[in-house]
Amino acid sequence: MNVLFHTTTALGIAVLFTHTKNKKPSTSIFVFMTGILSHGILDTIPHCYLIPSKIDASLGLLMIITAIWLCNKQYSIMVLSSFIGCIIPDLIDLSPSIINKQLGWSLPVFDKLFPWHFKQFSGSVYTDDCTISNINHTILVIALGAVCWYKRSVVREMFSKGEC
Ligand SMILES: [Zn+2]
Repeated sequence: MNVLFHTTTALGIAVLFTHTKNKKPSTSIFVFMTGILSHGILDTIPHCYLIPSKIDASLGLLMIITAIWLCNKQYSIMVLSSFIGCIIPDLIDLSPSIINKQLGWSLPVFDKLFPWHFKQFSGSVYTDDCTISNINHTILVIALGAVCWYKRSVVREMFSKGEC
């Protein structure tokens, strides 16, 4: 799935597992592991690549930098952990070959580590019919929007620079 959907999911995971009542963000390790699991689920369900890879990677990186920059300091490690967990499978399995292709480098390319990147488990759609993919992406965006709306007090607290 496009990086941008993984990074958007990372924000949703960070919000989902942060609680305002006890002011204690979930542990970064738990959020990191949940990010990896979410990546596996999103890569397994049928998906097309809606966004060209260069734009996708650039916007994903921009989202990470912006969110960490705007995030309240007490949550920055947890939010960063969520982002890393959500994109690290692609960084490990796919980035060397993408960098080689885009920049003409010769980084070593190893066998894929994460099973959802194996052709038999990946939900990548290789036809022109992206109907199911569009439905899946829509459900994902709606679900993430619902999480952020339901936990809007958390969102406000995470991204407020005032005292919490
Ligand atoms: Zn992936």
